[in-house]
Amino acid sequence: MKRIWMALKGLLWPPRCVLCRRFLEPGEERICPACRASLPEPFSGPRRGSGYRRWAAAFWYEERLREAFLRFKFNGCGFYAGYFGPLLARAVDSQLGREYDLMTYIPISPLRRRRRGYDQTLLLARAAGKELGMEPVCTLKKRGRRPQSSTVGREARQRNIRGAFRVKDPALVAGKRVLLLDDVLTTGATVSEASRVLKEAGAKSIDVAVLAAAPN
Ligand SMILES: [Zn+2]
Repeated sequence: MKRIWMALKGLLWPPRCVLCRRFLEPGEERICPACRASLPEPFSGPRRGSGYRRWAAAFWYEERLREAFLRFKFNGCGFYAGYFGPLLARAVDSQLGREYDLMTYIPISPLRRRRRGYDQTLLLARAAGKELGMEPVCTLKKRGRRPQSSTVGREARQRNIRGAFRVKDPALVAGKRVLLLDDVLTTGATVSEASRVLKEAGAKSIDVAVLAAAPN
């Protein structure tokens, strides 16, 4: 039954490249040869914000990646995690190493998760964790919807995000070297705030890995 369904699905919705949406040839998986050939190397950069040590990213957040990411986040393409996760793991390996006691992630609010049906960063973390041999642990709770005044500019974002997270159980993070995953790094306000509460709960150190970093 499953085989028939898969065959039918292939006919109705032929697989497309995750990044450029070109139809894939038989034998091509998830990404077309042209996109595969132009994948960026994992990279890092100066720290954005505070509270953590360093960051690594798999992509710049621009053009084809941005469009793919929006499908991943909003258009039910949660299965993209199976493709993005290993690339995130590769960024961790090449830029940060594997000296971590705990892998955790930036959660979305429960309301948003209900509406969307999935938490894209958790899916990413699971897929990356498979490669890294770590299970993501949910340590942060996002508080409910908060009034968003202006989100323009570094300071405004930092103000808006203040108090957005709390640590579920300090015992989970106390004394740990933490690898914190998120989907996109922009000003660093989100990971800074998460790092602040993780540190308060006793985390020893925090490094950040993201799927994509916005160009400065
Ligand atoms: Zn492509």
